[in-house]
Amino acid sequence: MDKPVLERFSLEGKSSLVTGGGSGIGKAYCHALGEAGASVAVVDINLEAAEGTVAELEAKGITAIAIRCDVTDEQDVERMVNQVIETFGSLTIGVNNAGMGIWSDALEMEFGMWRKTLSLNLDAVFLCSRIEARAMKKPGYGKIINTASMSGHISNTPQKQVAYNASKAGVLHLTRSLAAEWAPLGIRVNSISPGYTKTDLVDKLLETPEGKAMEPLWLSMTPMGRMALTEDLQGALVYLASEASDFTTGADIVVDGGYCVW
Ligand code: NAD
Repeated sequence: MDKPVLERFSLEGKSSLVTGGGSGIGKAYCHALGEAGASVAVVDINLEAAEGTVAELEAKGITAIAIRCDVTDEQDVERMVNQVIETFGSLTIGVNNAGMGIWSDALEMEFGMWRKTLSLNLDAVFLCSRIEARAMKKPGYGKIINTASMSGHISNTPQKQVAYNASKAGVLHLTRSLAAEWAPLGIRVNSISPGYTKTDLVDKLLETPEGKAMEPLWLSMTPMGRMALTEDLQGALVYLASEASDFTTGADIVVDGGYCVW
């Protein structure tokens, strides 16, 4: 290996896309990829939010474009990936991060809410992964990184969130399965499992009386005693996106302040 180790973390000259890049964890991922040298397509159903992220990236001198896309729609995902390739010439890094979380009682919840959660958190991750992989197959190299969750490993307490937990457990096994299938193509597939992270998604939950009551319990159950900041997730992403992780596939990196160790 003739490249010094830190150079193997560089993303200079690579092109990337991040779904859900308009806010929260996805936005922090866009900054991480761009700061490490990649061009970034910020993909979101909310175009204004994606454009907001692009403006922040461009202010740092990062090459970026905003693309509106509903990741649950196959044709929209195909169009989005084509646009990334037309703009950047290739796609090396696909970060499938868009997701949603709701709390609901398994006995009472509408079945439609189950389907909606699974459609965005699991079906869309499969859709995006395979359309990205088709683009990576010819060059014979690619990095797919899916956002799972500590909720894919454990059934958190005390909130009831069966659809979310099941969808994220699905992302973990989808990731391992695709890793095995696509290793011969040079495509690595890994995931990151955040713990509770300060974003709009969690802020919305914490605004409810139920959420307010839960926060102290969550913090007491986290060995590091705090929620993650989105910056806490950036190092794992750059590792998985870079040559430094070329022999890592089918892995999940848990970034949860130790929540899952108890
Ligand atoms: P967020 O709500 O801040 O961001 C989600 C983004 O996805 C938004 O910009 C939204 O517009 C976009 N989006 C929603 N539906 C979409 C669709 N159909 N097509 C394209 N984009 C769409 O949420 P976040 O907290 O940053 O979560 C990002 C990911 O991290 C999710 O997969 C979530 O499950 C996961 N996660 C979050 C936490 C946490 O504590 N925040 C913990 C573990 C895992």
